[in-house]
Amino acid sequence: MEVAVAATEALSLAAYRDEVAGCTKCALAKGRTQVVFGSGSPTAELMFVGEAPGFHEDKQGVPFVGAAGQLLGKLLAGIGMTRDEVFVANVLMCRPPGNRDPQPDEIEACEPHLWRKIELIRPKVIATLGNFATKLLSGKPLGITRVHGVEQEVVLGGNHVVLYPLFHPAAALYTPRMLEVLEADFRRLPDLLGGPTAPPAPVVELVPPPLAEPEAVQLGLF
Ligand code: URA
Repeated sequence: MEVAVAATEALSLAAYRDEVAGCTKCALAKGRTQVVFGSGSPTAELMFVGEAPGFHEDKQGVPFVGAAGQLLGKLLAGIGMTRDEVFVANVLMCRPPGNRDPQPDEIEACEPHLWRKIELIRPKVIATLGNFATKLLSGKPLGITRVHGVEQEVVLGGNHVVLYPLFHPAAALYTPRMLEVLEADFRRLPDLLGGPTAPPAPVVELVPPPLAEPEAVQLGLF
């Protein structure tokens, strides 16, 4: 991308970030420390969408900074990428109390912010992390256990995007079999982006799987 174009896009995203820093569209505004807008490259070809900020994200104002974020970083390193090259956001920009699940009215209120980010960043691939992001962005009720690793072309924020559902890293932290699947799904990202960036590498040592199949339910993520 041309330097001048990239600079303009960075400015638009930064301007939007400033615009929504005081958002009061839902009740979560009352309990948050700050809005967690998202972080990374404003011209990223790969965007991740998780669920909602947790305790650490709310304090630091950056998504995925806890254990799940560490795993996300390792998974990215395994495909030769860094957090600076991608954009990481969530379905909700504010922390739900006690890290409870996002409520339908909160998702509805925050949705336009996500669409606008997608419109400004124009990623080629959006990897949805877990059930909430996958259901919202696909517009379908199918759970992550059924659709992980299956890409589909959609139009989001006015752009054609490859939607690629993945297990949530926080869920994979506690379920070795799920981590194995997440790693395998992750390894397809370079191809979906249009070419390999590095040879795949194992992310973490796996112990033998205690479960036959990943659970369909969403685990506590924080
Ligand atoms: N941290 C985030 O920012 N999002 C999640 O979905 C989980 C942890």
